[in-house]
Amino acid sequence: MNLILMGLPGAGKGTQAEKIVEKYQIPHISTGDMFRLAIKEGTELGNKAKAFMDQGELVPDEVTIGIVKERLSMDDCQKGFLLDGFPRTVAQAEALENLLTDINESLDYVIHVNVPSDQLIERLTGRRICPTCGTAYHLLFNPPKEAGKCDKDGAELIQRKDDKPDTVEKRLEVNLEQTKPMLDFYNDKGYLISVDGDQDINQVFEDIDTKLGELSK
Ligand code: AMP
Repeated sequence: MNLILMGLPGAGKGTQAEKIVEKYQIPHISTGDMFRLAIKEGTELGNKAKAFMDQGELVPDEVTIGIVKERLSMDDCQKGFLLDGFPRTVAQAEALENLLTDINESLDYVIHVNVPSDQLIERLTGRRICPTCGTAYHLLFNPPKEAGKCDKDGAELIQRKDDKPDTVEKRLEVNLEQTKPMLDFYNDKGYLISVDGDQDINQVFEDIDTKLGELSK
């Protein structure tokens, strides 16, 4: 099964990706993870990507499309793949179509985990982190036993700059602008499966699994 997973920050894409790759036994290909690993290992790719990532910008298409092409031609992709974080632009989506045609493959489905923006703001701004041990909490979904204090070491919990309301709203807005044209692109081509992401994690996965099962018949 050749799949793409899409969803805004906080929509629970990471959790669903884990469940999908386990059930369908396909590799999880996250361009963000690939870039982060390359930076950690200090490779040439890492050096190219770092400046862009540090600025919160997209890595140029020729670099990104190049690594996806290389990754998709590896043996473990014979059974399929789950792309996550790629494509990010319609140009990348078009490049992907060509790239798949070249290796005699095609997309099966694009799964969109759909959560309304106001719901995402609540999820993302509610996050609190322990500055000492890194444990993450959520004011609503996973609160500490004592308000504002880490369960493990009692340190005063903090809110990361990324998680403050203004930053969150800006991040979502930029992402939404990037995502919308691609959702339209894949909807027009008939690949798009939209699932309600504003539900229990297991229910979201069940919906994805059911839709994939029904459509593959
Ligand atoms: P992510 O973990 O998916 O949020 O990606 C982290 C960073 O990696 C992004 O902010 C971009 O700088 C870079 N990146 C990941 N995927 C892509 C992509 N498809 N195109 C361009 N840059 C990307």
